[in-house]
Amino acid sequence: MKKSNVGTYLAKRGISRRSFLKYSSAMASLLALPSTAVAGFTNQFLKAKRPSVIWLSFQECTGCTESLTRSHAPTIEDLIFDIISLDYHHTLQAASGEAAESARQQAMEDAFGDYYLIVDGAVPAGETAVCSTISGRSNLDLLQETIQGAKAVIAIGSCAAFGGLPAADPNPTGAAGVSELMERGEIEQKPLINLPGCPPLPVAISSVLAHLVVFEGFPALDDLNRPLSIYAKTVHDRCSRYHFYENEQFAERFDDEGARQGWCLYKLGCKGPTTHNACAVVKWNQGTSFPIDSRIQEGAQLYEENCVYCHSFDPTDFKTAPDKIADLLRSGDIRSHSRLQFSEDQLTILEKYLEESQ
Ligand code: SF4
Repeated sequence: MKKSNVGTYLAKRGISRRSFLKYSSAMASLLALPSTAVAGFTNQFLKAKRPSVIWLSFQECTGCTESLTRSHAPTIEDLIFDIISLDYHHTLQAASGEAAESARQQAMEDAFGDYYLIVDGAVPAGETAVCSTISGRSNLDLLQETIQGAKAVIAIGSCAAFGGLPAADPNPTGAAGVSELMERGEIEQKPLINLPGCPPLPVAISSVLAHLVVFEGFPALDDLNRPLSIYAKTVHDRCSRYHFYENEQFAERFDDEGARQGWCLYKLGCKGPTTHNACAVVKWNQGTSFPIDSRIQEGAQLYEENCVYCHSFDPTDFKTAPDKIADLLRSGDIRSHSRLQFSEDQLTILEKYLEESQ
């Protein structure tokens, strides 16, 4: 099947070169390409042929697909469906059972030896392989067959990469990740890239696909087959609470003064020091936040739900100091604000938000 190049396809969809350059720069940045290489990267990208992709979903929660599809348009995460030719996707397609099976066979036949295989979800193997089937065939069986015509495999999410939750002890379904199945010789060895995360960052998926399209190869990988530019550092290395960690200011409980002040969550079980990912810099919801920053988001929500009816949408427009605002609200002296019933906790969060917004 003849595929159009990325530039022609985007032009047909009304996406300008200028807006594409913005997306392309974000992807290049996550891939740690030098700024001087962005223009060349974009040009090559627009000329490149849209690669065929077959996406198989196994034992998973659909979070990896949701991660791509639930973003606000237009973003890189939406563009992923323009950049690639997504010829088969277990979760997004309307077909099921035998119709789905023949769609997969057709997609394989059309681009045999030339498609990328994306896998999300762990794969039940061994005697328990029958725990998950499609059209009567086990996930392992489908993977064994589909991998034969793949140019390379991209394991998306912690389950596909390393087994994830389905493989947690006692692992009743004998679930394993793609790399383990390759090591055990249960599926064919192919070039493999792992993009762990639960779910992985959408831009990690699109930037890796962009790299494959432009350079026809993987970016530099670590010993677990993860892109170094995304996974070399931990969340802890780039966390907004890191200065509290260095100053040994730790929250001891989720409702203590340290938690209200936004101190480090290490003593509450934070796994940031051992989690390799770029969430702290890329963030979620169009760069709004990530879980460790959620306290700050709570402040923004309180502001938007209560203050913007009379005050500016921009909290920096306040002329009064944040602590004075909170104190005024505490005192109950402003009659026009008597309808607002903030708890002491909420006032502290709001005060912190206004302070950090200045
Ligand atoms: S909150 Fe977690 S990731 Fe952030 S500095 Fe503390 S331990 Fe590190």
